[in-house]
Amino acid sequence: MTSVLVKDVSLAFGAVEVLKKLNLDVQQGEFIVLLGPSGCGKSTLLNCIAGLLDVSAGQIFINGKNVTWEEPKDRGIGMVFQSYALYPQMTVEGNLSFGLKNARLPKDEIAKRIARAAEILQIEPLLQRKPAALSGGQRQRVAIGRALVRDVDVFLFDEPLSNLDAKLRAELRVEIKRLHQQLANTMIYVTHDQIEAMTLADRIAVMRGGLIQQFASPKEIYNRPVNRFVAGFIGSPG
Ligand code: ADP
Ligand code: MG
Repeated sequence: MTSVLVKDVSLAFGAVEVLKKLNLDVQQGEFIVLLGPSGCGKSTLLNCIAGLLDVSAGQIFINGKNVTWEEPKDRGIGMVFQSYALYPQMTVEGNLSFGLKNARLPKDEIAKRIARAAEILQIEPLLQRKPAALSGGQRQRVAIGRALVRDVDVFLFDEPLSNLDAKLRAELRVEIKRLHQQLANTMIYVTHDQIEAMTLADRIAVMRGGLIQQFASPKEIYNRPVNRFVAGFIGSPG
């Protein structure tokens, strides 16, 4: 079953075309990595899927529903950014519950969801702290927790680990992988890091200049890159 379908999506900032009739289909439960050099349009594509940017042309479907003109909050997606975007004046628990309180969820349901997310992400001891008292890795866990408590179908990650040092990056990479195995929901993950792409993805979409050059499994892309750009970027001999 198709989870996210991007159909002939174009996006221009003024005269500059950033996405050029781009197509992408993501199956339910897949872990997709959008991989490509800085400026190729990865964040723009993710923001279109999230509804944070309006497309210039084309359509976006989530679980079969045309969401092209739906509000971000109505798309059933949760987004995790590179900068943690936590509310500094609130505790971790406050950050996790904020969106749920706005959505008028019952108190006991909110408590249940926070407890579950805190357990999965191992942030139980941090719930009463403020973001300033957390490490980068802990903040990023809380940011993931905010998507988790909303019980969304699709997680979107925009370079969530790029502000972390190498050791933490490796650690959180394993955790995100475990999270995906546990939740079995759809994840679309943007990075320019080949190792992250190769270790996390079921399929990698290699992007260049607003187009997808190749969309295939890590093994396929490594062994059979479709062109020199993909081969060079992935670091395969091809
Ligand atoms: P990536 O995430 O792959 O690094 P982006 O999607 O952020 O790339 O950007 C793709 C291109 O669009 C870049 O050339 C960037 O300069 C341009 N761009 C991104 N956002 C804007 C904007 N708000 N206004 C004008 N140009 C933008
Ligand atoms: Mg980006």
